[in-house]
Amino acid sequence: MKKFVPLLLLTFLISCKGNSQNKETPNKAYPVSKTDAEWKEILSPLAYDVLRHAATERAFTGPLTYNKKTGVYVCAGCQTPLYESQYKYDSGSGWPSFDRGIEEHLEYDVDYKIGYPRSELKCNTCGGHLGHVFNDGPRNTTGKRHCINSAALAFIPTDEKK
Ligand code: FE
Repeated sequence: MKKFVPLLLLTFLISCKGNSQNKETPNKAYPVSKTDAEWKEILSPLAYDVLRHAATERAFTGPLTYNKKTGVYVCAGCQTPLYESQYKYDSGSGWPSFDRGIEEHLEYDVDYKIGYPRSELKCNTCGGHLGHVFNDGPRNTTGKRHCINSAALAFIPTDEKK
């Protein structure tokens, strides 16, 4: 019997880990909160699908993918600043890519949509889905690649900032 105890303990620990990772936070209250119908009314169909239903726009189609202007990228849903142009780079993925974001405005979650865990990025003001973060970013800086849907962002050039 004795030798089964560590095995039981291990099983218990693994199951605890699994549970905590799968824990959903339904109905989490965000500072900006709207009904589904309200979001549908103010967002473009694509932005609605991406931000509110975690869709992914087709690669190489987003207008901000190759934007090289100086400015700030805000959430297309609630205008919270999320990314700065100085940290944008061309990853070749076909989606706007940044090696870091404005961390205090980002929320990290885990999704299992394609069968394995990916680190999902959300706007922590409205809960809108932005994209995912991967560990294949520029090695000379952070090593992170924030892979963001163009449709989830709006760009404000520096000279138009208030
Ligand atoms: Fe937002």
